[in-house]
Amino acid sequence: MTSTPDSGDAGVRVRFAPSPTGFFHVGSARTALWNWLFARRYGGSFVLRIEDTDKERNREEWVDGILSAMRWLDIDWDEGPYRQSERGELYRAAATRLHDDGRAYFCDCTREDVEARVPPGAPPGYDGFCRDRGLEAGPGRALRFRVPDTGTTLVRDLIRGDVTFANDSIQDFVIARPNGDALFVLAVVVDDMDMRITHVVRGEEHLPTTPKAVLLWEALGGPALPVFAHVPVLVNEARRKLSKRRDKVALEDYRAQGFLADAMSNYLVLLGWSPSDGREILTREEMIAEFSLEDVNNSPAFFDERKLLHFNGIYIREMAVEAFIDACLPFVTADAVVWRDAFDPAVFRVLAPLAQGRVGTLAEVPGYVAFAFSDEIEIDPSSYDKAIAGDPGAAEILSLSRARFVECPFEAESLKLELEGIAEEVGRKLSKAQAPVRVATMGRTVGLPLFESLAVLGRERTLSRLDAVLARLDAR
Ligand code: GLU
Repeated sequence: MTSTPDSGDAGVRVRFAPSPTGFFHVGSARTALWNWLFARRYGGSFVLRIEDTDKERNREEWVDGILSAMRWLDIDWDEGPYRQSERGELYRAAATRLHDDGRAYFCDCTREDVEARVPPGAPPGYDGFCRDRGLEAGPGRALRFRVPDTGTTLVRDLIRGDVTFANDSIQDFVIARPNGDALFVLAVVVDDMDMRITHVVRGEEHLPTTPKAVLLWEALGGPALPVFAHVPVLVNEARRKLSKRRDKVALEDYRAQGFLADAMSNYLVLLGWSPSDGREILTREEMIAEFSLEDVNNSPAFFDERKLLHFNGIYIREMAVEAFIDACLPFVTADAVVWRDAFDPAVFRVLAPLAQGRVGTLAEVPGYVAFAFSDEIEIDPSSYDKAIAGDPGAAEILSLSRARFVECPFEAESLKLELEGIAEEVGRKLSKAQAPVRVATMGRTVGLPLFESLAVLGRERTLSRLDAVLARLDAR
């Protein structure tokens, strides 16, 4: 097979092989997406394989997290999820075969033995001590792969090109523990062979072990080697590798904050790749048609949360209002929302289009609409200081508004006319006259359009909020 199959080649088989050892990382999400796009582009198969052999670090809830994140991103799998924990027999059989064929040998060296034999000043590593000792299996004996002494091992990588490793730079490495459990490097090769994987698309941290995988693949007499594509790491603003201690890396967190799956996948696809004309907003169909591993850049990709937020805003504005309302519901009725019992879908329906034009994430929505559902909302102190306490003209604007709002028709257009009149009287621009009224009635300086919001709030509640602030000013 050629490295990049012709469109329509149904032979492409890729796999996404996460280890369930923590929250689903945004980097894993990008790897999953790229694998999936590649499979879909060539009409191939996308296999999901859970690499859960590390009993100490795996948790079932992380497996659920992976599946739910993939469903959320709309990345479906054609096969699996296979689980490595259920495939130990295959790995053992492969290890036995390598031993029987003379490609692997037992070794009883302890770590201390290995270290003690390293000559002063030489790089650490195993010296092949047990290669020809002919040890049989037994307690304390690990199985090591016999790396050829000469020659080179070629890794064909769609992103990095051909990378050649000198075999004498690779030490005989352990493939099975004394208890017979296969090491990760062997399990992955056995699975990739068994699952007839044609393209291995994975994080670049796996590149150093790839020559070992290639050697094992050949020793096991596998079919044609897969083509590799090691995708670049994600880095933060300081150009340091994204880490779960420093950075927000869990897809789940972004989801909980009201990022949309479509915005997220659009953002992820561009982390190291862009379409030839450089445009940034892409539909799934466009991604499938245009994504190409060969065009992936091999330098680290900056995961820019601000840009993601910008994308999210674009996607939010493009939603149909009904879809936006549905997507907001979990956020406006969440446990943390103190006024959730007062939530009124009919009122929200009026406010939703106003919020849709402004928010960056769905989690911002409750803050924008709170004023309509709760009379107990606190006025944001810094907004109060800025727009009311710190503005000598505020009291006059508020009391004039109070007086006019008693009589005028209570709808957006008339309210605006009234405040325009007041602004003229006190000699300031409408926007400057709005600020104290906005803070008094909506609790903060940033919010939905004032007059539409007041119309929703109604005369009575608007007046009583203005009164409350005027009383507070009087009491000073
Ligand atoms: N399980 C590995 C990981 O989560 C991926 C190994 C591979 O793709 O070959 O990093």
